[in-house]
Amino acid sequence: MNKAKSLLKTILDFPRIFRSNKFEYIKKEAEIDDIWSLYFKVPADYKIKAGEHLMFRLNHSDQDNRGNFRFYSPSSSPKEGLLRVSTKYFGDKSSSFKKALFKLAPHSQINVMGPIGTFTLQNISKKYAFIAGGIGITPFRSIITDLLQTGQLPEITLYYKNRSDKFLFKAELDTIAKVNPQFKIKYLIDPVDINETELIDLNHQEALFYIAGAPGFVKVYREKLISLNIPANRIKYDPFRKLKE
Ligand SMILES: Cc1cc2nc3c(=O)[nH]c(=O)nc-3n(C[C@H](O)[C@H](O)[C@H](O)COP(=O)(O)OP(=O)(O)OC[C@H]3O[C@@H](n4cnc5c(N)ncnc54)[C@H](O)[C@@H]3O)c2cc1C
Repeated sequence: MNKAKSLLKTILDFPRIFRSNKFEYIKKEAEIDDIWSLYFKVPADYKIKAGEHLMFRLNHSDQDNRGNFRFYSPSSSPKEGLLRVSTKYFGDKSSSFKKALFKLAPHSQINVMGPIGTFTLQNISKKYAFIAGGIGITPFRSIITDLLQTGQLPEITLYYKNRSDKFLFKAELDTIAKVNPQFKIKYLIDPVDINETELIDLNHQEALFYIAGAPGFVKVYREKLISLNIPANRIKYDPFRKLKE
């Protein structure tokens, strides 16, 4: 999407973006390593597209200087019953926001704004290269599940890079890949990198490239794709904090 279109979409989306919703916190479950999933019940008329993100606001005491809100890309698809957020928790070393989030009592309400963003799929007749760094797998898990549920999984290569072999959602993703030959996964443990020849090949096939993860990760891979002459209008990215250009 070019900049003008993206700006127009944002303006037209203002009522959705700035609508404050109350989500009901239900439960949390340990995933892998330090990662947990938190589940929320959303209002009955609530609409979100796979790949969009949300702003969670949580007023709490002893707030640190990192503030009372955070953005999250749900790892659940819109058709799954509860909305799921997957995130790391570092106990005492966590921010005051995370500590408050992880202390929520079941059935308590949390303020959520959004959905926001353009990290969604428009054209399922295209090929896709998804590049996930660590917890950046969350929007991709949402998108892939949503596509499966609508029976329209396009050709996707998921490059999933992690610091260790503890890949969130690995068993589930492997099962999807096993029964859907058009969905391929390449697990990469740091410092192993994505094969550039494969990226060039995907570029020749006019694939659309989506990158999600920490800002440093997104910056590196966006620059890599640009250096391989992949047109910027075929690259979308979802930096998990504001990306400094
Ligand atoms: C569009 C978007 C989508 C996102 N989706 C997700 C998602 O699905 N899952 C997810 O986990 N996160 C996601 N994030 C990031 C999320 O908003 C938080 O930034 C992240 O979870 C870190 O949380 P925290 O700041 O509470 O730090 P904690 O996780 O509590 O931080 C742990 C430790 O990391 C260090 N640290 C981390 N961030 C900072 C910082 N800004 N400044 C200083 N030290 C820091 C600190 O040493 C701290 O002790 C997304 C962000 C964006 C913008």
